[in-house]
Amino acid sequence: MERVSGKGKDVYIETFGCQMNEDDSERLFAFLNEIDFQKTDEPEDADLIILNTCSIREKAEQKVYSTLGRLKALKKKNPDLIIGISGCVAQQEGQRLLKRIPHLDLVIGTQNIHRVDALLKEVSTKGARVVANELSATISSGEYRPRLRDVKKVKSFVSIMRGCNNFCSYCIVPYVRGSEVSRPSPEILEEVKTLASGGTKEVTLLGQNVNSYGTSGGGDVSFPELLTSVCRVEGIERVRFITSHPKDISMELLELFSAERKLCRNIHLPVQSGSDKVLERMKRGYTADEYLEKVFLLKRLYPGTSISTDIIVGFPGEEERDFEATMEVVKVVEFDSIFSFKYSPRPGTLAAKFTDQVPPDVRSRRLEVLQAEQKQITIKKNKALEGKTVEVLVEGRSKASEDELTGRTPCNRVVNFPGELALAGSIIEVLITQAYSNSLRAVPIERSLLCC
Ligand code: SF4
Repeated sequence: MERVSGKGKDVYIETFGCQMNEDDSERLFAFLNEIDFQKTDEPEDADLIILNTCSIREKAEQKVYSTLGRLKALKKKNPDLIIGISGCVAQQEGQRLLKRIPHLDLVIGTQNIHRVDALLKEVSTKGARVVANELSATISSGEYRPRLRDVKKVKSFVSIMRGCNNFCSYCIVPYVRGSEVSRPSPEILEEVKTLASGGTKEVTLLGQNVNSYGTSGGGDVSFPELLTSVCRVEGIERVRFITSHPKDISMELLELFSAERKLCRNIHLPVQSGSDKVLERMKRGYTADEYLEKVFLLKRLYPGTSISTDIIVGFPGEEERDFEATMEVVKVVEFDSIFSFKYSPRPGTLAAKFTDQVPPDVRSRRLEVLQAEQKQITIKKNKALEGKTVEVLVEGRSKASEDELTGRTPCNRVVNFPGELALAGSIIEVLITQAYSNSLRAVPIERSLLCC
């Protein structure tokens, strides 16, 4: 089949939502770049605009529709402009989107990114409006093609699986990402090696539930075995993974924190609630005590491991005492950071049908209380680092100041410090001089490294 050409054309991709979407956007661009599209940061300059969307919460979905609305004026000015939508909203809404948004040309579901070339051809040569949102139980060859060598990034995500079989009662992911399938490990390792040869120093292995890698089709090794192989890739200095489901975390995995030097002692372990009643209705598969047992084992075995979590407040039926149980977990664990949200009913999920929804003002108040508590904990933990020496992987210029560099500690804290851009990609030692709620300020210890 003759391919559509993007020669002399620019694509603008806007990404909403999680790391999975960030990785999908990179993959989308890699496929477009193969047919000569270049990237632009300005939607006004683009020949093709794709919004890679998120539907995990109502607010995220509304943001997509308002952005799509704003693009109408651009289409009016340039009728040849192709506007597409990919990701979870595309998967969920499919054909309905074409009806709702007359200036939309292309709808690419979560498992159809690799078909973007053929789909664009339909639009540009036949003037068709196209929807591709079929889901498949297998990963087709070439769907996750190893990245282009010229994508030079200090750190990168690598998807190791897709979909989820857990069906937590509030979550739309299993419906929009399909059932769980793992990528073959040789293909993942090839991608990591390609990234390393392009200068990537840190990889984060991505999946909705990485602990079940290899257990439900596709994967040929266990997740700890895969992690071990990734840690052995020459040129890669740091390895992380996200997300771990608390019910599936194994001793074999925890032991890797001591066996593998490159594996950062940093784990994201979503608790969601501290109330057993709420956890059961969420269908999370663990109790608060079972969760705490794993967290304290981790803390005992590897003191200093940073632990982050997700918490939903105002889940249907959450009473004040349930919320207090969540606050208790937050206080005893002292998470390094939390991602906290007000419950938002997602049509089609089990929890959206629950009749005991919590009033919006109660949800808002609980979120405020939770976030205020966590802010104190984060500041306290950051303050404890003042005067300490930490290793930082230098990522590049700081967004806050042109004169400063930014990087992250193994425990994933953002550190800003003075230095030359030539240090990007190296791991250096810095002395923490000041702690803030979201970042740390530091000075490099090996000052000689600043001269280049
Ligand atoms: S584990 Fe639960 S919350 Fe996470 S993606 Fe799967 S269904 Fe959603």
